[in-house]
Amino acid sequence: IPVDPFDLVIFGGTGDLARRKILPGLYRRFRDGQMPEGVSIVGAARSEFDDDGYRAFVAEALAEFLPKAKLEPKAVKGFLDLLGYIAVDATGKDGWAELAGRMRKGVVQAFYFSVGPSLFGALAERLHKHKIAGADARIVVEKPFGHDLESAKALNATLAKHFHETQIYRIDHYLGKETVQNLMAVRFGNMLFEPLWKNQYIDHVQITVAETVGVGGRGAYYDKSGAMRDMVQNHLMQLLCLIAMEPPSKFDPDAVRDEKLKVIRALKPVEHEHIVRGQYRAGDGTPSYVEDAENPDSLTESFIAMKVHLANWRWNGTPFYLRTGKRMKARHSEIVVRFKEPPHSIFEEDTGQSANELRIRLQPNEGMDLTVTIKEPGPGGMRLIDVPLDMTFADALGEEASDVPDAYERLIMDVIRGNQTLFMRGDEVEAAWAWTDPIIGEWTEREDRPLRYDAGSTGPEEALILMHRDGRRWRELS
Ligand code: NAD
Repeated sequence: IPVDPFDLVIFGGTGDLARRKILPGLYRRFRDGQMPEGVSIVGAARSEFDDDGYRAFVAEALAEFLPKAKLEPKAVKGFLDLLGYIAVDATGKDGWAELAGRMRKGVVQAFYFSVGPSLFGALAERLHKHKIAGADARIVVEKPFGHDLESAKALNATLAKHFHETQIYRIDHYLGKETVQNLMAVRFGNMLFEPLWKNQYIDHVQITVAETVGVGGRGAYYDKSGAMRDMVQNHLMQLLCLIAMEPPSKFDPDAVRDEKLKVIRALKPVEHEHIVRGQYRAGDGTPSYVEDAENPDSLTESFIAMKVHLANWRWNGTPFYLRTGKRMKARHSEIVVRFKEPPHSIFEEDTGQSANELRIRLQPNEGMDLTVTIKEPGPGGMRLIDVPLDMTFADALGEEASDVPDAYERLIMDVIRGNQTLFMRGDEVEAAWAWTDPIIGEWTEREDRPLRYDAGSTGPEEALILMHRDGRRWRELS
């Protein structure tokens, strides 16, 4: 469904994120007919380009980051025609009057802040001062949203000076993933799951986001952050919220975000022995974490595994195991909801019965499956086997689904539509920092040293032990 005509300004329109994600995503939405007549997209950054120069720059980015087959020359030309460029200094005077001149009345206005957070305040102030942003304009901000509770509060306060919360779209691209939204459809669109979705029937939940890449290239930046800030506080926390939240009364931005906020506030402080921190060693031709970070004494974690509990009726006693790391064995993100075993087995002991598992795979092969126990076909007596009921989109929905929109493009279209459901609200972000701050604070105070793990492994062995102690295990990374 096409969106309304819009003016989109991408501050940082020459940056890495714009080249890799935002512009290719916008092209795909254009190619698929989602942009009506009268769309204008303006890159705004420090480099000196004219409109044509920027179009050539974007054409290169599309060629670099999209498969050739997706680059239909007519569509590419049509898309490039929508683009313009203005050199703007976020902290100075240059470019602002010109930008004001380019904005139109009567269309949706969106401003993507694809720049470091230190510039958010300067941009917001200038948009206001030069009367560029109307009362209904939307701004999109990227992670990291703060470094701790105090800085997140300060950022929220800075934005709030010029924009109302209903105008602020804080991106967490995990929420834009097809499967993550499907998780809500599965939970709340079926009678089958929700009655069982509680401590009585769910043994535990695992959330894994494993990456094979290291932090090379952005090591100095990452070293001030670490896995807890870079991944757990935002992405893993958001996934946990969607699994654990109560059914909202409607699929509406504040109804959903109110429920997510309650989950974050129900998180118990984590016990020290329920956390495993790691740092990768050098691998076959790959540098160690401390080399990548250019900091031989670094105490920053590139891996974390933890067991967390929620203090509420639904989840009392059901642990959530979270783990994320760099330079791991496989690029693999998934949520596993493991149900309890049936209370009594009527079959003989070694027939092969096991517990049901709902797996929500974010990458690779986005999709969902549910393992169920059935009888092994054939005359061999009552032998049981587990089979996955596959809910993978490509199979169920045919070819169309192999081209599901990327998270970024879906989220940008939501901004244009004015739908904040899949964006983090200010209070959610603050609550997540309020939970992570004391954990990080304790490490700093104790000068906690991360455990070393082999590049290409599943992280420190202690992470496996964290689950073994409870008689459970992580699903294989593959
Ligand atoms: P980048 O360094 O590649 O690009 C920065 C952009 O900001 C450039 O276009 C630059 O011209 C512009 N800029 C810098 N200072 C400016 C100023 N004073 N006035 C006007 N423009 C200015 O950064 P990036 O990787 O594209 O990241 C942008 C934001 O997105 C950052 O906040 C980053 O943390 C976040 N982010 C990036 C990624 C990613 O994959 N690159 C992923 C998640 C979040």
